Amino acid sequence: MADHILRAIAADRGIRMVAVETTVSTRYACRRHGLSYLTTTLLGRAMAGGLLLASSMKTAQGRVTLRVQCGGPLRGLTVDAGRDGAVRGYVAVPGLELDLAPEGQFDLARAVGSGHLQITRDEGHGNPLQSTVELVSGAIGDDLAAYLFHSEQTPSAVFVGEHITSKGIRCCGGVLVQVLPKAANEPALVDLLQRECSAVENFSQQLAAHQGNMAALLQSLFNNLNPQPLAAPQPVRFHCRCTTSRCLAALELLGIHQLEEMIDEDGGAEMNCHFCGEVYRFSAADLQGVIHGLVANGVKPG
Ligand SMILES: [Zn+2]
Repeated sequence: MADHILRAIAADRGIRMVAVETTVSTRYACRRHGLSYLTTTLLGRAMAGGLLLASSMKTAQGRVTLRVQCGGPLRGLTVDAGRDGAVRGYVAVPGLELDLAPEGQFDLARAVGSGHLQITRDEGHGNPLQSTVELVSGAIGDDLAAYLFHSEQTPSAVFVGEHITSKGIRCCGGVLVQVLPKAANEPALVDLLQRECSAVENFSQQLAAHQGNMAALLQSLFNNLNPQPLAAPQPVRFHCRCTTSRCLAALELLGIHQLEEMIDEDGGAEMNCHFCGEVYRFSAADLQGVIHGLVANGVKPG
């Protein structure tokens, strides 16, 4: 089954759960950006995390931007995820490879190092909300849980994981579990959630076992909480919003003088989309066209 996200409610409507599979999207990002297995893991987890956060946006055009700024050799990553299931993202050092950690796992903590996680929530009608927390582990899941606790004061757990073999990415995804605000003052429920979450062992293995069926994954992880899907699974895909016309609009902002310089010095312009790696090339004639458009709209050179 293609990538999908599933929202559910559990424990007599006191707990919300979201599960997302991002296998196909992560494979696509890996190809598009030429990612190493290490950076595939980090971007895959961050894309799953972004989609989990975006699932609670109120409007259909609601989006979450997740930015890791860090001192480790990864240097940083950015993910943009929508309530509509579209996700895109990139890392600062795509080919980064490090020795495995002593347990034979990717050394995510070393790759990321210390730094910050910045989350921007934008419902699409202005005034995006931004919040920054210090990274607690670098493995993304606990960092997102720390952000949720800090920004919403609701006890939450975030599991992210993947299964990668010598053949590539076999699966990738995540689960968010959160006490709903109206139930956040019920100690028994908070205790129950903590107990159930700490009983989850080897999330990546469970994800792999229930690949293609996030409802079954939630059931298997949290059988005692009786999760009930709220709606049919929603498709998820790697999708970038960059277009030629958006690039042309960005060129317009440079102004006539700078566009003329680009024509003289470079004979055109090349723009790279960080999010998807697409390259847009504009000839001198294209840039001349942008200048004509500006002049026709009364923009003065300089
Ligand atoms: Zn793009």
